[in-house]
Amino acid sequence: MAWSLSGRRLFCFHGHLRLLVSLLPAAIVVNVLLYVLLFSKSRVVVLQPDDIAENLVADAESLRLLNATRNAKVCDVFAAAKMTAQADEALDSLAERYGVRPGGAWRPKDCVPLYRIAVIVSYRDRPDNLNDFLAYMHPFLSSQNLDYRIVIVEQVAGRPFNRAKLFNVGFQEIEKLKSSGQFAKPPSCYIFHDVDLIPQDGRNVYACTKLVRHMSANIDVFEYKVPYDSIIGGAVAVGRRRFLEANGFSNTFFGWGGEDDDFYNRITRDGGRVCRYSADVSRYVMLSHKKQKPSADRYYFLVTGKDRYATDGLNSLKYTVVKFELLPLYTRIVVDI
Ligand code: UDP
Ligand code: MN
Repeated sequence: MAWSLSGRRLFCFHGHLRLLVSLLPAAIVVNVLLYVLLFSKSRVVVLQPDDIAENLVADAESLRLLNATRNAKVCDVFAAAKMTAQADEALDSLAERYGVRPGGAWRPKDCVPLYRIAVIVSYRDRPDNLNDFLAYMHPFLSSQNLDYRIVIVEQVAGRPFNRAKLFNVGFQEIEKLKSSGQFAKPPSCYIFHDVDLIPQDGRNVYACTKLVRHMSANIDVFEYKVPYDSIIGGAVAVGRRRFLEANGFSNTFFGWGGEDDDFYNRITRDGGRVCRYSADVSRYVMLSHKKQKPSADRYYFLVTGKDRYATDGLNSLKYTVVKFELLPLYTRIVVDI
């Protein structure tokens, strides 16, 4: 009897132990989730409409020009803030009518613009989206009196699409333009943009803020809700110096997904923060397109990303420019990556 009793006790003890051990992973996961929910602070600052003006960063070159010019008038970026987004469908004559220079560059004539930007778009094989984008963006950006250029970086056929690497190429090529005399100085602000996103509110100023700004926060197809707090995909405004500091985007993400979250990690490591305009301002429409298949290795590259920030980005960028054209409405860079 004694034997069987102690045997059962032993069994019970083992049973409890096994139960405890089997619950351990679940307990760890629950604790980590609780910790994340309770103690991790959001790294996103929301700017209300009244905060926008004071958070914009004026271009140093523009300020120099302003100081050197007597009776100079500063351009008003909110001049057409109440205007609703409208496409100018007559694309063929748009450059001439708006005074867009070859390469899709424009600047106001009767005032000094405080903001100099390049809008870089990763692109392949979406001609309808591209036409609509240009038809909306030239009227929109010129109504904000910005000194701007639209740059379309087009990946050649073959490998899966690499949105982030194309952004890096666009940045690098615009930086090179200055040495070729096209720009006096590179723009102090880069806006990395999807071709299918159209801003709807004129107060959504396309200049850089003190913090990196996630622009396309509230999109019609997501019922104008921010899908998750750390999202930074779609359109993002990054100061030139901040972009260099982050070593740009990763070049590693071929196929859909992950590259934007990796960029969020690059910006927010070491306590960095990002900002957004409030929900009434950061409204976008997404033009319709076919859905891409998510890439299978995006999680692996995202999770291991931090080991590569210093070695994967602008400083490891390799590509071959196949064509560089200054078209009437945009600078076109066709690239083999
Ligand atoms: N893109 C493109 N051609 C492609 C795939 C992507 O031009 O075949 C560009 C385009 O600028 C697009 C962006 O990459 O807006 C993001 O891709 P997609 O729109 O498919 O992703 P979503 O964010 O809608 O899931
Ligand atoms: Mn899209």
